[in-house]
Amino acid sequence: MAASKGAPDLYSQFLSSAPGAFIAAKAGLPRPENLRRYKHGEPPLAGPVLIGGKGRLVEPLRELLSDYPAAGTGDDTYGALVFDATGIGSVTDLEQLFEFFQPVVRNLAPSARVVVIGTTPEETSSVDEHIAQRALEGFTRSVGKEVKRGATAQLVYVSPKASAGLSGLESTLRFLLSAKSAFVSGQVIRVGAEDSVAPADWDKPLDGKVAIVTGAARGIGATIAEVLSRDGAHVICADIPAAGEALSETANKVGGTSLALDVTADDAADKLAEFVLERHGGADIIVHNAGITRDKTLANMDEGRWNMVIGVNLLAPQRITDVLVAKGALKEGGRVIDVSSIAGIAGNRGQTNYGTSKAGVIGLVQASAPVLATKKITINAVAPGFIETAMTAAIPFATREAGRRMSSLLQGGETVDVAETVAYFASPASNAVTGQIVRVCGQSLLGA
Ligand code: NAD
Repeated sequence: MAASKGAPDLYSQFLSSAPGAFIAAKAGLPRPENLRRYKHGEPPLAGPVLIGGKGRLVEPLRELLSDYPAAGTGDDTYGALVFDATGIGSVTDLEQLFEFFQPVVRNLAPSARVVVIGTTPEETSSVDEHIAQRALEGFTRSVGKEVKRGATAQLVYVSPKASAGLSGLESTLRFLLSAKSAFVSGQVIRVGAEDSVAPADWDKPLDGKVAIVTGAARGIGATIAEVLSRDGAHVICADIPAAGEALSETANKVGGTSLALDVTADDAADKLAEFVLERHGGADIIVHNAGITRDKTLANMDEGRWNMVIGVNLLAPQRITDVLVAKGALKEGGRVIDVSSIAGIAGNRGQTNYGTSKAGVIGLVQASAPVLATKKITINAVAPGFIETAMTAAIPFATREAGRRMSSLLQGGETVDVAETVAYFASPASNAVTGQIVRVCGQSLLGA
């Protein structure tokens, strides 16, 4: 089954009709914005960038963003507001946020971006600074809930040890200040001190790279394969043998290779390692996307459902990464990207097995990051919220509608939104980003 791409849901169709718009306006119903999404050749933002703040990063930020149109004094609509909050060293300094944002926050273009840059609280030099920097999270997440018309707000913490050129921040900033992050809002990303080398072409950052995507036959996995291939990677598309036809379709579409592989099979990790070593001398990226649900309340759960979900969603990614790394089949400087879920953050009725597995994925990422760092391998996860796929199309209508609307962006996401976030982690320029969990959920109220 192919994922729905860009097809407006019934409610959005209703709102776009004249009577629908009239009724919605009268009744004060939520009106989801048609989000700007990446199209090759289009400008990343719908307006100029206003940069502010009094910290150590404001000048390097201006330099880094020199190819984005800068807001002038005559501008009254902004494509993005970028604020350097690293100068906030105490609680009283938090007033800087109010001073910068309050006069301009009303003047955002559709799908505008708000990005606050702070200092990683755990690496600050005083208690006062730690408190003030931690406070930025509440500010940014609240802004995300207030801004309208598809705008998003994020917080990026940068290590105080990062070099002045901020090269390690560039891939994160480019992702957040683009239509690629359309469905990402209210997120906090920590960027380490490492320097990065910019790709020769920001539109093809994965040129020459080999990527493995599990569960690539359909849904989110198929779109991840497409986006990684668009960015230049050769993609090995893996899925269960029964998905054969759909898998070949994905692989053909992306000019990649298909590989029949049940990730829970005893020999899955060895088979994958052998395959990539023989054909490509190793892989650069692995995306553990294969995942299943087997919902029942705990009281009605049987052992089979429990074990199957933990096996596919958590044990397989852990085991496969371990073997690939041990055999050198994931190259030094490689990228591991796991797929969690907001159900692993908030919990979900009827999903004790799934919620456990997806929270475990977060643990896997956090525990593995320092270990893999010795080989310059990063590990991160996306945690999707409500994404329009065959999986969510099967949810009963009322629950599905509630799932879509219970977010700051008032709509479900598309598979491409998850895929773009995966591609951001996969970029060679994202080497300073590890151990991070980015929710792709439109700032869902679940687990907020
Ligand atoms: P999907 O069911 O459409 O696709 C999952 C794919 O994984 C299928 O092609 C399936 O054949 C494959 N797969 C299942 N078991 C496998 C195994 N043992 N070995 C190899 N492949 C296997 O699901 P989706 O909606 O595209 O979800 C993809 C990932 O995103 C999953 O990890 C899921 O838990 C996660 N996720 C999805 C949503 C959403 O809203 N759709 C939300 C949160 C998280």
